[in-house]
Amino acid sequence: MTLNLKSRPRRLRQTSALRAMVRETELNAQDFIYPLFVRHGEGRTPIASMPGIDQLSVAEAVIEAERAAELGIPAVILFGIPAEKDPIGLENFSPDGIVQQAIRAIKRKLPEMVVITDVCLCEYTDHGHCGILNTGEHYQVSLPEGYVLNDPTLDVLGKVAVSHAECGADMVAPSGMMDGMVAAIREALDAAHFENTPILSYAVKYASAFYGPFRDAADGAPKFGDRKSHQMDPANLNEALREATLDVQEGADMLMVKPALAYLDVIRTVKNAFPELPMAAYNVSGEYAMVKAAAQMGWIDERKVALESLLAMKRAGADMIITYHALDAAGWLAG
Ligand SMILES: [Zn+2]
Repeated sequence: MTLNLKSRPRRLRQTSALRAMVRETELNAQDFIYPLFVRHGEGRTPIASMPGIDQLSVAEAVIEAERAAELGIPAVILFGIPAEKDPIGLENFSPDGIVQQAIRAIKRKLPEMVVITDVCLCEYTDHGHCGILNTGEHYQVSLPEGYVLNDPTLDVLGKVAVSHAECGADMVAPSGMMDGMVAAIREALDAAHFENTPILSYAVKYASAFYGPFRDAADGAPKFGDRKSHQMDPANLNEALREATLDVQEGADMLMVKPALAYLDVIRTVKNAFPELPMAAYNVSGEYAMVKAAAQMGWIDERKVALESLLAMKRAGADMIITYHALDAAGWLAG
């Protein structure tokens, strides 16, 4: 029997050519930003919880960036592991800091590559927190001991951003969720005549358990406590709009939502509110590790699951995706 159905959506799904014709979202290598972990010394150190991702010497970071460029990936984002940590994180804004060295080396070899730098304190401080703590010379009696101080941290973030720009960074990406961080960095960059250096703000960053493997990768786990006093509560969506609005007002050029996969609704909501700003999603270490682990067990098809996840982030509204799958995904898309 044949029912009298006027609409049969399956008509457009009959062949691969028809499906391609009506496909709404397309994933490309140009959508990816590839994260690189740079450290002092030679060679590579594999990160156990992130198979395929290594801590890299400066020379290896250049090689990895070249691989990305060959695959059509336009950008890398750098995270540094310093030689020594201290309460402020002095290497973070040192001209010879590890990220500063890596920026110069990558830009020398690959002038076209967009080099973005993460701007935060947590990888550089001995306590592992994203700002200066309420203790010692900075102590304020009105705040609890050990609280991450907002305003004193902003001065440091400005110095870090300027230091990166001086080495040739194309874009800075503050990730610490300090109030006023975009304004402070904008002001510091402008004062140093880097008014053309854009800011990609980690505007909407949640206090997420999906960051676990990253903390191995960047040696950046807090030594005590957590980041709930500055990163957002995973329960909140309206607050994402408040955070994004403030960063836009402060001069952010691009916005980011982090993590990605469990926050697709947030990506869509922020994109709808600010369609005029390019938006990035951060496909974080825990999301990557889950795909890798399940694939190693033979439980999922790594290629299909990774590409489907990345496609979903783009469909949700991300214009670009920071992802550890970048090299593999770009290769799969080309093949
Ligand atoms: Zn941080």
